This record gives sequence, structure tokens and C-alpha cells, in this order.
Amino acid sequence: MKYDLLLKGGTVIDAAQGLNEVRDVAISNGTIAAVEPDIPVRAATHTISVKDRYVTPGLIDIHTHVYYGVTTWGIRADAVCPTAGTTTVVDAGSPGWVTFPGFREFIAEPAQTNILTYIHISGIGLVYGPIGEMLDIAYAAPRQVAETLQKHRDITVGVKVRQGKMQVGDNGVEPLKLAIEAAERAETTVMCHIGAGVSLPEILGMLRPGDVITHCFQGNGDNIIDEKGRIIPEAWKAREDGIIFDVGHGAGSFHYEIAQRAMEQGFISDVISTDLHTGNINGPVYDLPTTLSKLMHLGLPLADVIEKATFSAAKAIRREDQLGNLKVGTVADVAVFDVLEGQFEYFDSHGTKFIGDKKLKTELTIREGKV
Ligand SMILES: [Zn+2]
Repeated sequence: MKYDLLLKGGTVIDAAQGLNEVRDVAISNGTIAAVEPDIPVRAATHTISVKDRYVTPGLIDIHTHVYYGVTTWGIRADAVCPTAGTTTVVDAGSPGWVTFPGFREFIAEPAQTNILTYIHISGIGLVYGPIGEMLDIAYAAPRQVAETLQKHRDITVGVKVRQGKMQVGDNGVEPLKLAIEAAERAETTVMCHIGAGVSLPEILGMLRPGDVITHCFQGNGDNIIDEKGRIIPEAWKAREDGIIFDVGHGAGSFHYEIAQRAMEQGFISDVISTDLHTGNINGPVYDLPTTLSKLMHLGLPLADVIEKATFSAAKAIRREDQLGNLKVGTVADVAVFDVLEGQFEYFDSHGTKFIGDKKLKTELTIREGKV
């Protein structure tokens, strides 16, 4: 019995197994078959030399918008992920319970990329950029959201809500309250977008362990740091309580200075995601490896950024038994990277330019064992 594919000689970074060393990775029938120091070439039908490259679990981007054709935000996942090392994307609530069936049939099922989704607490989901989906609280439907989540556990991960004044108008934290109600009914988690105009301490006080704050380094108001540049105590407490902080870069939600100040104080995000959508795919976001490169520039080692976009991301969506690791028997979603050294120009969401000396370059993406 030969392995289908052997990745030979690369440095395997897999937080789930505590690996950051040279290992060979063998794949058979779409699953990881062996991870060992030396697997002979003759044991495999095909071998790819990945010497001096990094072999990681396929990246998981827990905040994207891929409901192409139905929402103004939606990109085609397969147009970007297979060249980016990203094997799983989670749509951050583009579908509401009303538009979910179309998402399942026309987006998730036909895609090469593994597509999962949060369901928005607003029945209409995130259809149209400038109009707040929760300006009218009547769109919130916790019972229907919970039912949809329960029926479609294979591709859903939780409830999405956006808590900025622009999205909720005068409804304050009522949308979040209803999102938590839906999540409790379906025994799942909430992803909460933060932005200006709704009290962040109030939001943090409502979230439960395992719930996710996305846009944690946003700088539009109601940030995680105060006017003196210190992390607010409620953010530290939320972190201690097990609330997960995610980057969700986006077109307006990654503020370089806030990220820098937070990280200087040891406040590192748990997960790194892109919030990739039509408004940032041609810059400043481009793809997940670019966002990871930015966090490397801010001081995180390669192994840490990889963990935050693989194993930690899988834990945030409660899929760590299958995704985000290279354990034998799990799905063979694998990425191979090179780290380029030089001078690379990056931008945050506010037009701030910074020069990084490293760039993560995708060499190979393997999804269910297929290159
Ligand atoms: Zn988003």
C-alpha cells in the first residue's frame, strides 16, 4: 500500500501536536496518513520536495464574505483561497435565516474551498453595504436562526451580530441580546462585530466564554484601548473569561497603531482573520497570508501567526477535531509556505503604510488531499 502523496523535507508547524520541526507528511485517500521524521520516497506514488519550506495545516479564515451574487460584499471563495493556502473560510453572517438555503445550495456545496458560515441574527443577513441590517429590530429572529443552525450543523458555526451605531441605530445592545438568545437555543456561539457608537464594556459584559469579538484592533471608536493608549480593563477581563478576540482586518477595522499598542501590552489576538470582501480584496487585505505577514511585522513569530489561523481558528469555530491540525486521520487540508525576506509595503485599513521585512508566500494548497 503506497501513500498517494508525500511532502518531503519541510518544516512542519502544527500547534495541535506541538510540532515546529522537519517532518515528512504523507497523504492517502484525502486524509493525513503519516507525519514522521523520514518517510522513504518509494512509499508514495507522488512526492513533492518541500525542503526549506513550511508545511502547515490549511489556513482557516473565520471572517470572510463569500455570498457572491446575493450581497454587495460577496467574493468568490475559489477565486482566492486555492492560491492562498486557505482551505476553510467562514462567512461572517452574510446569510440570514431567510437567505441561508441559497447560500448552502449555490455557494457552500459547489465550492472547492470548505465553506462554513455564521448566520446573522437579522433575517436578511448582510445584503447591502451602507444599510444597517439591525436598524429595524423586527428583522431579528432568534427562533428561526436557532432552527436553521440546528438543522445545518455541518456548515454553520454560530450567530453573527454587528454592534456599531451604523448597523443598529438606536437599538443599542438589543441585537446582541437576541443573538445570544439564538445561540443559547442552538447551543452555539456568537461572533460580535465591534465599532463606534455602542459601549464596548457593555458588549464584553454580555458575551459568554467561547463567543468571538471580531475587529479587535479596530480604531473607529469604542476601541479596546482608551485615550491614553491602555487596554481597557473590561477587555482583559473578557480575555480571562474565555472570550475570543479575532482580528477581522477588513476595509475599516485594522488600525495599525492600535494593534501595535495592544501588542506592546501583551494583548495579542487569539485568531487572525481577514474580513475579506469586495471592498478590500484588491487591497489592503488581498488574502490571509498578507494579514499574517502584517502580524509578523508587529512582532509575532511565524509559528504563532500560523497557530492563530489554523488550530486557534478551528477551536473558535469548534472544529478542532477535524480542522486546523495535521494529526493522522484528519482531513488532508495542508498549506506550504515560503517566508520571503526583503522590503514589503503593507497598509492598514486607514491608509497607514508600513514596511515589513518578511512576507509569507504560498507555495502550495492541498484540499482533501488534492493539490
Ligand atoms: Zn465582516
